[in-house]
Amino acid sequence: IKTSAAALAAVLSGMRASVAFTGAGISTECGIPDFRSPGGLWTRNRPIDYQSFRASPEMRAEAWRRRFALEPALGGARPGRGHRALAGLLAQGRLQGIITQNIDGLHQASGVPDERLVELHGNSTYATCLDCGARYELGWVRAQFEEGQERAPDCPACAGPVKSAAISFGQPMPAEAMARAGALSGGCDVFLAIGSSLVVWPAAGFPVQAKRAGATLVIVNRESTEFDDLADLVINADIGDVFEAALAR
Ligand code: NAD
Ligand code: ZN
Repeated sequence: IKTSAAALAAVLSGMRASVAFTGAGISTECGIPDFRSPGGLWTRNRPIDYQSFRASPEMRAEAWRRRFALEPALGGARPGRGHRALAGLLAQGRLQGIITQNIDGLHQASGVPDERLVELHGNSTYATCLDCGARYELGWVRAQFEEGQERAPDCPACAGPVKSAAISFGQPMPAEAMARAGALSGGCDVFLAIGSSLVVWPAAGFPVQAKRAGATLVIVNRESTEFDDLADLVINADIGDVFEAALAR
């Protein structure tokens, strides 16, 4: 960890207009399993894709049942050492933005303002109407769900389907988020890819884009990733441990 922390500290001290790109690994210390942990909440069921959610009331009810089952892990989670380190680097002006694949809302919870955060896969801590875009809080959805004997609620404004604001398989990527992520990746000096296996596309294209545009690519992950060969520096360490130790320097 000493060597890793020294290497990371050297990178952090040189950053001026950098970008952090995060995946599920930054949130595991917060009690939210990543894709790879055996028996993790995300791997237990075949995911419900966007078309099925739209087409079937039963699938909508099942999707909400699963979402509420995650609430003990997701609802109570607090930002970890990685989230806090990045929020600090942003406040110092070393980072110009954070691009995340996570849907847990923990970057916001660590104090990162919306205009500095790009959520590529949405956010599962609230819901939106798929037709009119109105926002609904999870508590409201749950109350409706229970009152209606486990019927997924429709939008009171337009009767459209109300869905978690996380992006499902088969759902179009959010265009504004993709554009903002592209601009950040194409214009940074250092691109830090943290806690991601870098196998989920199109998200995994951003480290590649940054590297092609001339950024220094640094990967922080406890196991190997898809783009270790492309990186200028690979730090195989626990995220919380290595950021804590690097910042202490
Ligand atoms: P992933 O599960 O594919 O990869 C996570 C990586 O982080 C793994 O390689 C793992 O070895 C590493 N890791 C885990 N804990 C670590 C730690 N403490 N220190 C260092 N490394 C650690 O995750 P991904 O690349 O983000 O892709 C998964 C997809 O699933 C994403 O699209 C995301 O939307 C979704 N997802 C989100 C969450 C969340 O919001 N917290 C959790 C699981 C999955
Ligand atoms: Zn609506």
